[in-house]
Amino acid sequence: MALTLEQLNRATPEQALQWLDGLYEHSPWVLGQALSERPFLSLAHLRHALAQVVRRAGADAQRGLIRAHPELAGPAMLAHSLSAASAREQTQAGLAQCSAEELARLRQLDADYQARFGFPFILALRGPRGSGLTRQQILACFARRLDNPPDFEHAEALRQIHRIAELRLNDRFGAQPRLGNDLWDWHERLAAHSDPGFAEQGQLTVTYLTDAHRACARTLSDWMRACGFDEVHIDAVGNVVGRYHASDPHARALLTGSHYDTVRNGGKYDGRLGILVPMVCVRELQRAGRRLPFGIEVVAFAEEEGQRYQTAFLGSGALIGQFDPAWLAQQDADGITLRSAMQQAGLCVADIARLQRDPARYLGFVEVHIEQGPVLGALDLPLGVVSSINGGLRLSGEIQGLASHAGTTPMGRRRDAALAVAELALYVEQRAAQDGDSVGTIGLLEVPGGSVNVVPGRCRFSLDLRAPVDAQRDALARDVLAQLERIAARRGLRYQLAETMRVAAAPCAPAWQRRWERAVARLGLPVWRMPSGAGHDAMQLHAIMPQAMLFVRGENAGISHNPLESTTSDDMQLAAEAFTELLHQLAEEQAEEPTGKAV
Ligand SMILES: [Zn+2]
Repeated sequence: MALTLEQLNRATPEQALQWLDGLYEHSPWVLGQALSERPFLSLAHLRHALAQVVRRAGADAQRGLIRAHPELAGPAMLAHSLSAASAREQTQAGLAQCSAEELARLRQLDADYQARFGFPFILALRGPRGSGLTRQQILACFARRLDNPPDFEHAEALRQIHRIAELRLNDRFGAQPRLGNDLWDWHERLAAHSDPGFAEQGQLTVTYLTDAHRACARTLSDWMRACGFDEVHIDAVGNVVGRYHASDPHARALLTGSHYDTVRNGGKYDGRLGILVPMVCVRELQRAGRRLPFGIEVVAFAEEEGQRYQTAFLGSGALIGQFDPAWLAQQDADGITLRSAMQQAGLCVADIARLQRDPARYLGFVEVHIEQGPVLGALDLPLGVVSSINGGLRLSGEIQGLASHAGTTPMGRRRDAALAVAELALYVEQRAAQDGDSVGTIGLLEVPGGSVNVVPGRCRFSLDLRAPVDAQRDALARDVLAQLERIAARRGLRYQLAETMRVAAAPCAPAWQRRWERAVARLGLPVWRMPSGAGHDAMQLHAIMPQAMLFVRGENAGISHNPLESTTSDDMQLAAEAFTELLHQLAEEQAEEPTGKAV
């Protein structure tokens, strides 16, 4: 019979240890220490406590924990001496049925891996959905992780160990991430639509108004109807809009959503998670026959990534009345204008102006998004509360020195343009780090017409600076530009700089940020506040109503804009639970204050 949290909280330490024996392979100390933190409010709380024990234990104990794990399809499996849990996991993954060729490949990978890292390769074989990885996926992951730097791989091994424990815990408690699994399956099915040229290679690319893009819109609107939304339509820029009515027809609505377009060869979760999480929550409300004292409007934004045309945030921009008719003349790489793409898709350009929302009819805007960074993963936290969406500044520059002979120009007599940019890049690294939460990047650095035997006479570069508040970003920019001035003067160089983009920071509305914080805390998880380094649709809505965002941890150290972008069904389950908590809070607040004055 499945264990309950109440039983675990009440049990003697000996009993609890016995019930959860083998959660961490041959390492009962992890559980032993975590149990002292009872009572646990939730399984998520228990999982986090376990991970914290391992974090605090230090590198030596962590290596011991990693080494306590068996090799995949290794001698222990063949000699039937694995722990029961490991044996089951390896057998379910089909590792007992490896062909001779696959076994040989595994052995080779294992030898290379052990030689490089000094510990066995560890992978949660049941994968992010808990239903199992294929042998092919296992081998591919093995090969990929061989290239990781040692400290990164050490952390990855620990993350996999925690994931194995999470799945084993689910088994002991009979817990299934039911909503998370549905979310997982929806993401997979939506990712079946991809633009030509990418689809054939198994890559996900969905750019504005392509056939794949329109198929996504149709799929989403079909799903919204099946979820029980009262009104569903595709609007004049291709946004899919679903409305779930309030108990009171005059009540205001909560606006939420994210984008369904992708970057080229992107991930399955960027944007889509913020559409599907509220959708599954509405489905649950509808199944329970529940109406809230406010409406819920979920918008799947058609365009955010700016891939096909030079117009990022076209979807959410239309909701704040920010559609410039001049954009209609823009052409894509094939010379198709935005206007004709929209006409071909059956969109009515004349209606775009009418998409602008009246803020008086809304409580606010919330957005769930995959983190797209490594912070939550490093903290063993599934959810994070966004404090602000960073303001950004982009500049493009060129430095001119003197191209001269690499052999005859003495080091002290050079006017090397590339070295000036190199020096500036090091300064940006150090100065941005000083703030703690600013970031600065020189992502483009090129020597036009450069040659192996010529001192660089010109160097073009880009500068991208971001911070949670505009004043902090501007101070960073001032210091960086002053440093550039000094470097150029000292090295005898000239330079030009042009601002190419400036976006104001969008601090999350404090009252809404607190609602996310309470939602996370009610799940038994510590509240972690963090700025968003990436831009999001919420930045646009920020112009007309209060907004706040929730981040969900990504797998693979949070990699994004990359096919490896992923999350687990357990983390998505928690995102859906947090969203539901937020709805409950709003409902309670509305009941207390019938005028519906949300701030
Ligand atoms: Zn996104």
